[in-house]
Amino acid sequence: MSEPPRPTDSRPAKPPRPCPICRKMSLAPYHPFCSKRCADVDLSRWFAGVYAAPAAEQDDDETETPPRALDEGDR
Ligand SMILES: [Zn+2]
Repeated sequence: MSEPPRPTDSRPAKPPRPCPICRKMSLAPYHPFCSKRCADVDLSRWFAGVYAAPAAEQDDDETETPPRALDEGDR
Protein backbone atom coordinates (compact mmCIF):
# COMPACT_ATOMS: atom_id res chain seq x y z
CA MET A 1 0.00 0.00 0.00
CA SER A 2 1.30 3.38 -0.92
CA GLU A 3 -0.29 6.47 0.48
CA PRO A 4 -0.49 9.45 -1.76
CA PRO A 5 1.13 12.57 -0.37
CA ARG A 6 -1.48 14.72 1.27
CA PRO A 7 -1.02 18.48 1.21
CA THR A 8 -2.34 18.99 4.71
CA ASP A 9 0.13 21.35 6.27
CA SER A 10 0.70 23.42 3.22
CA ARG A 11 -1.73 26.15 4.04
CA PRO A 12 -0.15 29.54 4.28
CA ALA A 13 -0.23 31.76 7.31
CA LYS A 14 -3.53 33.53 7.81
CA PRO A 15 -4.21 35.56 4.74
CA PRO A 16 -5.42 39.04 5.52
CA ARG A 17 -9.18 39.08 5.27
CA PRO A 18 -11.20 42.07 4.27
CA CYS A 19 -13.70 43.49 6.69
CA PRO A 20 -16.98 41.62 6.18
CA ILE A 21 -18.88 44.84 6.69
CA CYS A 22 -17.19 47.32 4.40
CA ARG A 23 -14.58 45.18 2.63
CA LYS A 24 -11.71 47.27 3.77
CA MET A 25 -8.61 45.60 5.10
CA SER A 26 -9.12 44.34 8.62
CA LEU A 27 -6.98 45.56 11.46
CA ALA A 28 -5.60 43.26 14.11
CA PRO A 29 -7.21 45.01 17.10
CA TYR A 30 -10.60 44.67 15.48
CA HIS A 31 -10.06 41.45 13.60
CA PRO A 32 -11.82 40.45 11.46
CA PHE A 33 -13.15 43.95 11.10
CA CYS A 34 -11.43 47.12 10.03
CA SER A 35 -12.64 49.24 12.88
CA LYS A 36 -14.65 49.18 16.06
CA ARG A 37 -17.50 50.69 14.16
CA CYS A 38 -17.72 47.76 11.79
CA ALA A 39 -17.39 45.36 14.69
CA ASP A 40 -20.31 47.11 16.35
CA VAL A 41 -22.31 46.91 13.17
CA ASP A 42 -21.74 43.21 12.93
CA LEU A 43 -22.46 42.71 16.60
CA SER A 44 -25.73 44.61 16.43
CA ARG A 45 -26.70 42.63 13.36
CA TRP A 46 -25.97 39.46 15.22
CA PHE A 47 -28.00 40.55 18.22
CA ALA A 48 -30.82 41.69 15.97
CA GLY A 49 -30.86 38.26 14.42
CA VAL A 50 -30.88 36.62 17.82
CA TYR A 51 -33.71 38.69 19.17
CA ALA A 52 -35.63 38.65 15.91
CA ALA A 53 -35.60 34.90 15.83
CA PRO A 54 -38.88 33.34 16.92
CA ALA A 55 -38.82 31.70 20.28
CA ALA A 56 -38.58 28.15 19.13
CA GLU A 57 -37.59 26.96 22.54
CA GLN A 58 -41.17 26.95 23.68
CA ASP A 59 -41.66 23.61 21.98
CA ASP A 60 -39.54 22.08 24.63
CA ASP A 61 -42.25 19.83 26.04
CA GLU A 62 -42.74 18.20 22.71
CA THR A 63 -39.13 17.34 22.14
CA GLU A 64 -38.94 15.71 25.51
CA THR A 65 -40.39 12.28 25.04
CA PRO A 66 -41.36 10.52 28.23
CA PRO A 67 -39.80 7.11 28.75
CA ARG A 68 -42.20 4.47 27.63
CA ALA A 69 -43.17 1.89 30.12
CA LEU A 70 -42.50 -1.59 28.98
CA ASP A 71 -45.87 -3.20 29.14
CA GLU A 72 -44.97 -6.11 27.00
CA GLY A 73 -45.32 -9.52 28.49
CA ASP A 74 -48.66 -8.49 29.92
CA ARG A 75 -50.48 -10.25 27.15
ZN1 LIG B 1 -15.11 47.76 7.99
